[in-house]
Amino acid sequence: MAEYERKTKDSKPVLAICYDFDRTLSPDDMQAQGYIQDVGYDVDKFWTESNQFAKAHNMDRNLAYMYKMVEAAKNNFVLSREALANYGSKVKLFNGVEDWFSRVKQYGEEKGITVEHYIISSGLKEMIEGTLMARTGQFEKIYASSFYFDEGGKVKWPSQVINYTTKTQFLFRIQKGFLDINDPDVNKYIKPEDIRIPFRNIVYIGDSDTDIPCMRLVNMNGGHSIGVYNPETKEKEKVYKMIDTNRIRYFAPADYSKDSELDILIKEIINKTASYEILEKRFINNHSEANSFIKPC
Ligand SMILES: [Mg+2]
Repeated sequence: MAEYERKTKDSKPVLAICYDFDRTLSPDDMQAQGYIQDVGYDVDKFWTESNQFAKAHNMDRNLAYMYKMVEAAKNNFVLSREALANYGSKVKLFNGVEDWFSRVKQYGEEKGITVEHYIISSGLKEMIEGTLMARTGQFEKIYASSFYFDEGGKVKWPSQVINYTTKTQFLFRIQKGFLDINDPDVNKYIKPEDIRIPFRNIVYIGDSDTDIPCMRLVNMNGGHSIGVYNPETKEKEKVYKMIDTNRIRYFAPADYSKDSELDILIKEIINKTASYEILEKRFINNHSEANSFIKPC
């Protein structure tokens, strides 16, 4: 039988914080911070051509940008995992991002909550893996588009492509602890009290339309969806629209430093989770005691 990467439920409640990457943790698209320039393209031209290619061939836009990246690299350099990780290591991050993950984990620990961080991005896994946070093991799992490389380390084929609707499947994997992307039991029925991370303990942080299906799913099920906006440009139009249409519950500038609005908000969510889970445990205990009296085995 195939072995899949699974996490099991233990007595300590878990809060999963899921992040989009581009414009949520980083102020720009990851490909536009060195890669596109190095293959000799103007950034806007690259995206325009990539989106036109997608339209002309009925192709997923993410597959189209991956194709375009491979094609454009051909006469410039070998597109390897290392080359992509190297571009990822240079990606600019919003203020406070680098130490946010360990800081939030630590705060959760103090409140009796295990905090786990997950990336769900249409960007490239190999680039995210090059960031300091990934290299220091801050993420439980990175779900992102990725390439398959041949034995010589050269890019051969897309191995994953993640768009705005396929992003949602990862929330179900995280919820059940069935983290392997090929684990078919993601659709298995699990009793609500046995679910490892119920939706009420899922936080989704994103910036735009591509996050809407995830935000809506989390929100509808009692979790916490947060819209972030660039603290420098202060453009809030997207978050205003998202809160008006019930996609998010909160918005804040993408400033992850200590005592920022987002830092305070996440601590409030952890505090709420800690209190709620104490009551939930009491309810489950009372319920099972009553059950064993009413329906003895
Ligand atoms: Mg984004």
